[in-house]
Amino acid sequence: MKLSDTYFFTLREDVKDEESKSGKLLVRAGMITKIGSGIYSFLPLGLKVLKNIENIVREEMNNAGAIELLMPSLIPKEYYEKSERAEKFGKDMFNLKDRYERNYVLGPTHEELFVEIAKLKVKSYKDLPFNLYQIANKYRDEMRPRFGLIRVREFIMKDAYSFDKDEEGLDISYNKMIVAYKKIMERLGIKYRIVRADTGVMGGTLSEEFQAICDIGEDTLAYCDNCDYSTNLEVGCAKPNEYQKEEIKDIIKIHTPDVKTIEDVSKFLNIPTSHIVKSLVYNINNKLYSVLIPGNYELNETKLSKLLNTTDIKLATAEEIQNINSEMGFVGPIGLSIPIIIDEDLIHMTNFVVGANIKDYHLKNVNIKDFKYDYIGDLKIIKEGDLCPKCGQKLHFTKGVEVANPFKLGTKYSEKLGLEFLDENNKLKPVVMGCYGIGIARLMTAIAEQNATSTSLNWPLNIAPYKVAIIPVNMKDEHQVIVASDLYEKLKNDAILDDRDVRVGVKFNDMELIGIPIQVIIGKNINENKIEIKYQNTTKLIDVENIIMEIENITKNQLL
Ligand SMILES: [Zn+2]
Repeated sequence: MKLSDTYFFTLREDVKDEESKSGKLLVRAGMITKIGSGIYSFLPLGLKVLKNIENIVREEMNNAGAIELLMPSLIPKEYYEKSERAEKFGKDMFNLKDRYERNYVLGPTHEELFVEIAKLKVKSYKDLPFNLYQIANKYRDEMRPRFGLIRVREFIMKDAYSFDKDEEGLDISYNKMIVAYKKIMERLGIKYRIVRADTGVMGGTLSEEFQAICDIGEDTLAYCDNCDYSTNLEVGCAKPNEYQKEEIKDIIKIHTPDVKTIEDVSKFLNIPTSHIVKSLVYNINNKLYSVLIPGNYELNETKLSKLLNTTDIKLATAEEIQNINSEMGFVGPIGLSIPIIIDEDLIHMTNFVVGANIKDYHLKNVNIKDFKYDYIGDLKIIKEGDLCPKCGQKLHFTKGVEVANPFKLGTKYSEKLGLEFLDENNKLKPVVMGCYGIGIARLMTAIAEQNATSTSLNWPLNIAPYKVAIIPVNMKDEHQVIVASDLYEKLKNDAILDDRDVRVGVKFNDMELIGIPIQVIIGKNINENKIEIKYQNTTKLIDVENIIMEIENITKNQLL
């Protein structure tokens, strides 16, 4: 690309309405531009990066035996009504009507349509397995679009779906995708962790997330440096805590006027929060329960919900608490007439503090023998520094951006939508499915976040819009111009020729901003037949005739 006769611009000023480093740089580099809240255009240089990423994803999907097709984004709503997902998505899905008042949606994910496509082929077990995918736009009416290309309302996704005759088949298909995804992350040079996730609105039996480690992530993940354990906080667990055993003392009732929170109690009694037990009251399926956890932890509602096998969980009101003869801020297990659920740590704690169920009173030296409980389980949200459940080393926390999400769907969609096949014994069975998403533009943001400096997008060689920037220092120097043009003719598709008649500082800044990995600078040294080449932190002077070989050496060693 010759900059003098193309569409090219960069912005000098800071971009105020982008909150992330990558978002600001991508806009300043003229790679993307915001059209509306959570809606972006990809400009020529940005599109080149996006396509480079897309091609790596496509190659690895094809290598794994998946077959590409293309689905529409505009879809009759009835498909999502049949699967009962119209209601589940609710306002997250874009709904619209055509001129005949018929209902349509803009596809948020495409399970329903892929099932319909599979039905066209699948009759018997001999028609299975196969894996279909597309790279296409998806739409979600996000409440709060943010972080540049991370949470947007229109986004480009690769979604694949596998179809198998049984669970063993699904395991094989799923593992193939995991292998392909690992290869993709490796080729893109992304630092990531695979974490187990909650199956949520998609339904299914196993869900994992590929989380790119970034400062701007929306998710917090916990990971172990010593082994491969990593998890999101929703489902994460840690090695059970060890507590020092003390001699059991007698219960004392203490006056704690207006001392309500765990922190207040800790300060007032000069006792660490780990020696205080937090008693929460929950309304679960219209029945009140007390939930007890160590005072230095927060309750994990996802775990509570799993323990009681229900999603109808909410905190009780002050009035509800008064109705069970207790007092908000002073609830405790002794003398309470509702079922009690305890965190497993309580078994090992001695002489702890609880509420007395009387306004302004707590009880000290309470032990597990002093009350009855009905349920026990791990109910804590893990904390940084908790121990790894696999190897016992300390867990670290980091932010992550979910870039891929493989999912074992099982027979949820095939049963609902009638995707069946005849097995070896001529029995009709539902097809076993998996689905595998990758956010293409999210990958682009994650790569930018992980590689960018404050002034440069700093793309890795195989993602960069162009590998080489050719910079003649003085456009009025004929010798420089001729050598630059000659080099450009040889490199063409891989190179940008900055032949603008501007100050050389402007050229350097722009090429750095858009993140071209190799810079070839043709200046005064040309009179000694030398060209300067910059790659990463090294600068070399090379003879003109050796420059192509030097570039080839760099790219050969770096390209995956
Ligand atoms: Zn570990």
